[in-house]
Amino acid sequence: MSEVYNFSAGPAMLPKAVMEKAQHEFLNWRDTGCSVMEVSHRGDDFRTIASKAEQDLRDLLAVPSNYKVLFTHGGGRGQFAAVPLNISAPDDTSLHLVTGSWSKGAVSEAGKYNTAKVIGETVLKDGLQFVEQPQLSGDQLNAAYLHFCPNETVDGIAYDWLPEAGNVPLVADMSSTIMSQPIDVSQYGIIYAGAQKNIGSAGLSVVIVRDDLLGKARQETPSIFDYQKLAETDSMYNTPPTFSWYLSGLVFEWLKEQGGLQAVAANNTEKADLLYAAIDNSDFYQSRVHPDNRSKMNVPFQLHDDSLDTRFLEQAHAAGLVALKGHRFVGGMRASIYNAMPIEGVVALVEFMQEFERVNG
Ligand code: PMP
Repeated sequence: MSEVYNFSAGPAMLPKAVMEKAQHEFLNWRDTGCSVMEVSHRGDDFRTIASKAEQDLRDLLAVPSNYKVLFTHGGGRGQFAAVPLNISAPDDTSLHLVTGSWSKGAVSEAGKYNTAKVIGETVLKDGLQFVEQPQLSGDQLNAAYLHFCPNETVDGIAYDWLPEAGNVPLVADMSSTIMSQPIDVSQYGIIYAGAQKNIGSAGLSVVIVRDDLLGKARQETPSIFDYQKLAETDSMYNTPPTFSWYLSGLVFEWLKEQGGLQAVAANNTEKADLLYAAIDNSDFYQSRVHPDNRSKMNVPFQLHDDSLDTRFLEQAHAAGLVALKGHRFVGGMRASIYNAMPIEGVVALVEFMQEFERVNG
């Protein structure tokens, strides 16, 4: 089979070298005669994998020592509930910056547990989707936390500034941007992410939480979502998603081999610039997102003539460029170009787009 480039938004492609290593070790992990899937999470073998993965993540993101890293269940949506249960009381207010589908989903879930207030939404600027920085005032500065999603997977909207919120803890859903560039973890109260884009396979969520936010969970919080319990037990309060944790460890090793997040970020910028330039330099394709807020991970684009969408997708698929259909909320196409997507994949997509325009334009 010729090369296939998978532009899925998640579960997304993983680095080939990681998949090959996992395949090689699949039946016999380091001469134990067992698969890593078959060993106890409490045994020394798995604990070695688990703590190495955590340390590598800490190194890559330069996580300060006053933060715990939790490897847990429930995906991104699990954290939509876990965050309010852990750090708000029923009569507290949580603030939300709503910039797309996922941050909107977080508001609905938080609203079950506290008073969830939207403090900013995406606006149109020059006809394009744009995110304004929120200004907090008065009582808002006493909120339990401010939740935002710096990379909206569905909408392809991103921003790299942080909301200014005084002492209100910032909670970031980084499901589709974590590990794609260096960040200053000390600016956040909580960072969380589902693994299935830039970390590993589905089933695992990573939570990075500042120590002072631990131990505040409501009494009714399910124990598997209680950050304090997870921290006390090294995320082994119950059986964690062991294979996914192992795979994330291989991804972190691979990221270190790439030169760390600085190097990875440079690659990601190069890939995104290439794709956006192809969109901008054509009258055939368009982006509806303001240049200041374009995601480097998820690139939605539309054909001006949407009657050609099906033909575009079919021919792209036949050319080995798969999973380009845009989310049903947005339509058109979406190319997700996470860390694992090689530049060759983006070059192949751009060449396909140009040829498709030549024939159909
Ligand atoms: N947040 C973001 C930014 C996402 O992209 C997703 C999934 N695509 C979610 C939350 C929900 O994640 P999960 O399906 O793991 O619950």
